[in-house]
Amino acid sequence: SSNIIAIVGRPNVGKSTLFNRLVGERKAIMDNVSGVTRDRSYGHGEWCGNFFTVIDTGGYVHGSEDIFETEINRQVELAMKEADVILFMVDVDAGLTGLDEEFANVLRRTDKPVYVVANKADTNARMHQMGEFYAMGIGGEEIFPISSQSGSGTGELLDEVVKHF
Ligand code: GDP
Ligand code: MG
Repeated sequence: SSNIIAIVGRPNVGKSTLFNRLVGERKAIMDNVSGVTRDRSYGHGEWCGNFFTVIDTGGYVHGSEDIFETEINRQVELAMKEADVILFMVDVDAGLTGLDEEFANVLRRTDKPVYVVANKADTNARMHQMGEFYAMGIGGEEIFPISSQSGSGTGELLDEVVKHF
């Protein structure tokens, strides 16, 4: 296996923040696929001796909250095609949104492992809000609360992810 992790989710949930944390000081490689727009970023990371590539699929809509079915399909199809493990990121501060549910519906098509990552769980109170995301019915038994900003929870998540490598 080539150990590829893809991060998908609606704009502003924190995908790029997690990407940067996983890649650390290593330089991200921008893949200018469309020729006009920065489409996705690839970076390299390591966890407990496991080397991996991480793809931030969300570059296309940078700065916009307004995304549509084509963009959701584009992100998810890229992840389903290229990744070994998919991180589906949601935002506990914002709560469950219709766009999250649209992502969940497209992600149901894959038989690759999908982890629901509840980002912005910066405090205990916010961590407890992750329960509502179980309603999406995707990602198995466990939702992983993390704070991409502080890094809390990311170790527990990576411990599970690297089991697929
Ligand atoms: P993306 O659009 O999904 O790539 O999201 P970004 O990584 O650009 O983050 C969107 C916003 O959420 C930025 O203002 C980040 O600083 C903020 N953010 C990202 N991770 C966290 C987190 O763990 N906690 C909090 N409180 N804010 C976060
Ligand atoms: Mg981004």
